Amino acid sequence: MQELTHFINGAHVKGTSGRFADVYNPALGEVQAKVPLASKEELDAAVAAAAAVQPAWAATNPQKRARVLMKFVQLLNRDMDKLAEALSREHGKTLPDAAGDVQRGLEVVEFCIGAPHLLKGEFTDSAGTGIDMYSMRQPLGVVAGITPFNFPAMIPLWKMAPALACGNAFILKPSERDPSVPLMLAELLQEAGLPDGLLQVVNGDKESVDAILDNDTIEAIGFVGSTPIAAYIYERGCANGKRVQCFGGAKNHMIIMPDADMDQAADALVGAGYGAAGERCMAISVAVPVGNDTADRLIEKLVPRIEALKVGPYTAGNDVDYGPVVTAAAKANIERLVQSGLDQGATLAVDGRDYNLQGYENGYFVGPHLFDNVTKDMDIYTTEIFGPVLSTVRAETYEEALGLAMDHEYGNGTAIFTRDGDTARDFAKRINIGMVGINVPIPVPLAYHTFGGWKKSVFGDLNQHGPDAFRFYTRTKTVTSRWPSGTKEGGEFSIPVMD
Ligand code: NAD
Repeated sequence: MQELTHFINGAHVKGTSGRFADVYNPALGEVQAKVPLASKEELDAAVAAAAAVQPAWAATNPQKRARVLMKFVQLLNRDMDKLAEALSREHGKTLPDAAGDVQRGLEVVEFCIGAPHLLKGEFTDSAGTGIDMYSMRQPLGVVAGITPFNFPAMIPLWKMAPALACGNAFILKPSERDPSVPLMLAELLQEAGLPDGLLQVVNGDKESVDAILDNDTIEAIGFVGSTPIAAYIYERGCANGKRVQCFGGAKNHMIIMPDADMDQAADALVGAGYGAAGERCMAISVAVPVGNDTADRLIEKLVPRIEALKVGPYTAGNDVDYGPVVTAAAKANIERLVQSGLDQGATLAVDGRDYNLQGYENGYFVGPHLFDNVTKDMDIYTTEIFGPVLSTVRAETYEEALGLAMDHEYGNGTAIFTRDGDTARDFAKRINIGMVGINVPIPVPLAYHTFGGWKKSVFGDLNQHGPDAFRFYTRTKTVTSRWPSGTKEGGEFSIPVMD
């Protein structure tokens, strides 16, 4: 059995806590490795070592830091296939989707190569007589990221790249379900020239997370995962005086207007609802057709597409649309929620129960489900299912559809499909959700914009990647200087104003 490690001070390091978690191959339902779960002492030692090397990194000019990231991009491209394979083996997603996971992270590294420009600060010449004023962005010191299982390359990269570009040291606590790719990323950054100790990958569970929350040296924490854990980390991290941003769960609605291109909408829904087995925080999990006729036409288009979906292991390459879900527990939870949907009166237009894949009977495969006649009070509507289950809620009017999405507690992403510019514009303007697609089902912003939801999908006030990341990972210092210094008019006792 392979024993995974931590990555500390530039080397793979065995765990010493004596605690491990099983890492599965979800397609086979077999344990393929064990990952060490760090103790508080291991976490604290990794942080202390990072703190010792961070000042020299902060003093390295931003262009040199950016060159490390430039080399890192080359290495990510060189090893793309290897990374995608390792990612699929632990996560279960298809190989093309795994390569996309790496690619969307890599694009943020590319953006961070612009650090010299992004960190330039502001300057006011002659703010008063002989007075100049300037602001600099300085790194925070040691910062940490706690990341989820569903994007084991992209989300660690979204956090480590800007943190390091800004001159911080970074402690990564990846998901214990798929820790191999984060370890590979650390190896590649070292090969790219990152000095030892600046990226510490500490594997673990709640014990190491709590150690991060309580460590006095860690200045900031970025978290991505489920909403209850996001709320916990935000509360405890803030109470300990840290800068904290937490991105949580989602229930993304797609509104289909009567004038939408129904083939386009159905294709979009199938990809956005079932891609990655629905294990995406930007997956569409609720379809809201406006009007019964629209709903009937949509369902008619959806059913054959969903029934034709190919579910299988990543080893089938391009021949599968989605793979297994991540664990047996995730599969059982999806099955429980599907049953609750039936018990509470929804109808199954496509029934994915009892899905079996020959040769992979122990894998965590879940067949695709399409619910119709879902209502607001049902558990399948209120809860994030995180599986290949799409719920259809029929709305009579556009206002009712808009109200549904607005009233839901989550506010990560949403989409509208329509040919009408007025409706699309009204929707984009009024909706209380962070990322909006117009005839685009999964509107994940590109690296140079920022990513973040609203409502219970986020705790904190800055988004991920784009310019916000450079704000999150730096602190502003503003200097007011007077040259010549020779003005001697005695002390001033009222607040200074510039003449
Ligand atoms: P999770 O909340 O179970 O785990 C996330 C991280 O928190 C992991 O590193 C895990 O080890 C740690 N953790 C788990 N339980 C903990 C506890 N009790 N105390 C302290 N730490 C704990 O989430 P997950 O299942 O890995 O990921 C799926 C969730 O992440 C979904 O809800 C999904 O919507 C969300 N997600 C959100 C975004 C976003 O940007 N909003 C992006 C991706 C995923």
